[in-house]
Amino acid sequence: MNICDTTCTRCCTKCNQHLAKVAAKLSLNTAEIALLQKPKRVLTFTIPLRKDSGEMAFYNGYRVQYNDALGPTKGGIRFHQHVDLEEVSTLAFLMALKCSLADLPFGGAKGGIEIDPYTLSKNELERLSRGYIRETSNFIGPAIDIPAPDVNTNEQIMAWMVDEYSKIKGQFTPAVITGKPLEMGGSKGRVVATALGGCFIVKELSKLKGWEAEKIKVVVQGFGNVGSNIAKILHEWGYQIVAISDEKSAFYNPNGLDIKNIIHSQVNKGFLPDEIEGAEKISNTELLELNCDILIPAAVCCQINQKNAEKIKAKVVLEMANDPTDAIADEILFQRGIEVVPDILANSGGVIVSYFEWAQNSGNDYWTEEKVFKKLEEKITKAFENVWEKRQQENCSLRLASHILAVERIIVAEKLRGNL
Ligand code: NAD
Repeated sequence: MNICDTTCTRCCTKCNQHLAKVAAKLSLNTAEIALLQKPKRVLTFTIPLRKDSGEMAFYNGYRVQYNDALGPTKGGIRFHQHVDLEEVSTLAFLMALKCSLADLPFGGAKGGIEIDPYTLSKNELERLSRGYIRETSNFIGPAIDIPAPDVNTNEQIMAWMVDEYSKIKGQFTPAVITGKPLEMGGSKGRVVATALGGCFIVKELSKLKGWEAEKIKVVVQGFGNVGSNIAKILHEWGYQIVAISDEKSAFYNPNGLDIKNIIHSQVNKGFLPDEIEGAEKISNTELLELNCDILIPAAVCCQINQKNAEKIKAKVVLEMANDPTDAIADEILFQRGIEVVPDILANSGGVIVSYFEWAQNSGNDYWTEEKVFKKLEEKITKAFENVWEKRQQENCSLRLASHILAVERIIVAEKLRGNL
């Protein structure tokens, strides 16, 4: 199995290691472990696509509903040339944990198509997206399984997918998919939800540690949707963002960067500028090892690994990317007393607001951005408090505490349903 944004074969082992640790801590029995080790339902299919040239091409598609004990399953659809069943299954398992930890009435799912979407024209991409829905329309639904965007899929693709599903069912059904454009039933606040969720956790951590924002130095790796928004919001809240990076460059100013200005200069260019006034150009390797209070990996997987774990100087690592810390590094950071807020908690703001979108669609009642943000803060703060308390009780890492809470809820629901 593979839980990365890019291809990496270590993740299956890592997931199994996490499960093994939780199983040991909770003394799970054989049936409970067996239930968690396998997805509940798997759909694999081939999507025919007529290319603009008139030729036909065929692509592998997947949808995995890992566990639905807590409710209809929820999880994104990714388009990537390395998507396979193993990767989709692992990601679906992690979605089950993430939804459970956030106390959402959802199980976990994931889907994908094995395709490099950048090789397609816009019309081909639309036909392929609609094709995915034609193959899955009897497998998904607002009370069954609710997809969303993931790697290389976006609002436009979700709009085509909802339209296709609605045509097949003969009625507009916005609650079948989240991450839609506002005009098609999307939620206000979804774009910044993941980053804002992470900021609420920083706020709680700061309270617990007695930190004053102005004295806290933050390093952010990755300057896309999540990285740029978390840097922007924390900067607005008074935190010092001392370093940022993207896949091309990294910049450091120990006195703090002017994030608003940088975002302004980045608009429409996609990448960070060649130079930032007052900032030193450094490497991404150096960035991760900088002296700071909070290190925020918000790019791709496995950035903190056994090569650099001993050199990380941050007091807290806030995992906004999925799986940025490998298993060995995770253990090293724990032994060194560095607090790691795990991805399934740190970046759960996105799925929490997806839940709000589904609830708004289901009730046909649309909320203000203020209401979305208030409810997001309540949900993610509660999840953080629960994890913090569990960590104190169990004397373990925040990651293990998160996994214990998530698995406990799923096991209770499975028992209530009579499946265990
Ligand atoms: P994005 O594509 O908008 O941005 C990714 C950023 O990372 C870009 O700035 C890119 O240049 C940079 N990057 C890529 N490789 C890098 C490297 N080796 N070093 C430094 N920078 C690098 O993606 P995003 O939506 O911001 O997502 C970032 C991470 O957060 C991913 O791991 C994603 O799975 C996770 N995540 C995102 C959401 C969401 O709502 N967008 C929700 C949950 C988790």
